[in-house]
Amino acid sequence: FDALEQTDPEIAGIVLEELDRLRGGLQLIASENLTSPAVLATLGSTLSNKYAEGYPGRRYYGGCGVVDQAETIGIERAKALFGAEHANLQPHSGANANLAVYAAFCQPGDTVLAMSLPHGGHLTHGSKVSFSGKWFNPVPYSVRKDTELIDYDEVRDLARTHKPKMIVAGATAYPRLIDFAAFREIADEVGAILWVDAAHFIGLVAGKAIPSPVPYADVVSATTHKVLRGPRGGMLLSREEHAKKLDKAVFPFTQGGPLMHAVAAKAVAYKEAATPEYQAYASSVVANAAELAKSLEGEGMRAVSGGTDTHLALLDLQGLGISGADAEARCDAAAITLNKNAIPYDPAPPMVASGIRVGSAALTTQGMGQAEMAEVATLVARAVKAVHGTADGDAELAAVRVAVGELVARHPAYPRG
Ligand code: PLP
Repeated sequence: FDALEQTDPEIAGIVLEELDRLRGGLQLIASENLTSPAVLATLGSTLSNKYAEGYPGRRYYGGCGVVDQAETIGIERAKALFGAEHANLQPHSGANANLAVYAAFCQPGDTVLAMSLPHGGHLTHGSKVSFSGKWFNPVPYSVRKDTELIDYDEVRDLARTHKPKMIVAGATAYPRLIDFAAFREIADEVGAILWVDAAHFIGLVAGKAIPSPVPYADVVSATTHKVLRGPRGGMLLSREEHAKKLDKAVFPFTQGGPLMHAVAAKAVAYKEAATPEYQAYASSVVANAAELAKSLEGEGMRAVSGGTDTHLALLDLQGLGISGADAEARCDAAAITLNKNAIPYDPAPPMVASGIRVGSAALTTQGMGQAEMAEVATLVARAVKAVHGTADGDAELAAVRVAVGELVARHPAYPRG
C-alpha cells in the first residue's frame, strides 16, 4: 500500500475511503460480502501478470508451470467442496459464466425457460437488454401471486408447450429454497438441459446450510464473491460429460486469458469454505437472515413469501407507504447500504420499486448474530421511516448513523491491526 500511496495518492485515498465506508456502516446488499485478507492478498499478487490461455498442462503460453499449480489446486478443491465431476474457475464473472452456459448448450434463437426478471430472475436469464434476451428466445415463468413461490405447475406447463432447449433454476431475489428435483423431472420430461444459476446461494451450499443443486443439474454456474466470500468472479460445475463443451465455451469461445490472480484467490476461498468455521458461518447466515426478516416484519414491512430460507429477504414497503428508492436513499444517509428491489407483481416501476432486498452475509462475517439482527432491523426501520430533507427526518438519520457506528464498533469489518 505504501507503493500505491507514493505513486498515486488519489487512488490510494479512494481505496482507504472505501475501507472506511465498509468499517463505518452496515452492508446489507445480499450479493456482497467482506472477503478475507488471504483472498485479498492473492488478488493483489503478481499472478495478475501471467498470460495463461488454455487450461493446466495445455496452455498457449510458456512459463505457466507455476500458475498451473494454482488452477489445478483450485479445480480439485472446488470438485471436492461441491461433489462435482468437473469445475471451471476461469469465468471472469457470473454473467461470463452464464454466457458460457448458453454457448455450450444453445444455438442463437433457441428457447430458454427461466424465471422472469420482475419476479427475481437475473438479466442473463432472458432480459432484452442482455445477450440472453437478444440472441435467444426466453420464455419466463413466474411466482404465484398468493404464495410468491415458484409455481412448478406453471413451469411444467410452459415446458410442455414451448419445449425449451434449456431450463434455468436460480435467481437474484428469491428468498426461498428451490426444488431442484422438481426442475430435474420437468427437464427430463421435455428433454431439456437443466442449468442451475447458483450465483447467490452457492456459498450456502458450500457450507452445507442448504441442499446442493449439483446432483440434479447438468451445469451449475455461480459467482465466487457473494455468500462464498471469495474474489469477484464466476465458476462452472458440471458432470464430466459436459466438461469439454463448457471448457471450450469459456476459452476460447467467450474469453481470452484467465485472471490467474482471481483463479488462485478462488482456490483460497474454497480452502476457507471447507472448514468447520465456515460451516458455522453459513448456518448463521441463514439464521440471521430469518431473524432480520422477522424483525423487519415487526416494523411494518411485509416479508415476501412470508420469510426466507437463505441469506436474503425481500421486504414489501407498501404498507408503510414508502418506496424502495426512498428507503434506499434514507438508509444510505444513515450508513446502511441496501438496495431497492421490485417485489413480485410490483405496481411501481423498477427504478422506484415497492421493496428492499437485504442480505445477512457481510454482517455475519463481522461476527453478528441473531441479537444484533434485531438491532439492525430497528436501525433500518428508523432510517426507512425518517423523511429525509426535513429537519426532524435529517436529525433522525444522523442519530441512526451514530447508532450504526456504535454497533459496528462492537463487530468491526476488517479490524485494525
Ligand atoms: N446470476 C445471478 C443469479 C446473479 O444474481 C448475478 C449477480 O448478481 C449474476 C448471475 C451475475 O454475476 P456478475 O455480477 O458477477 O456478473
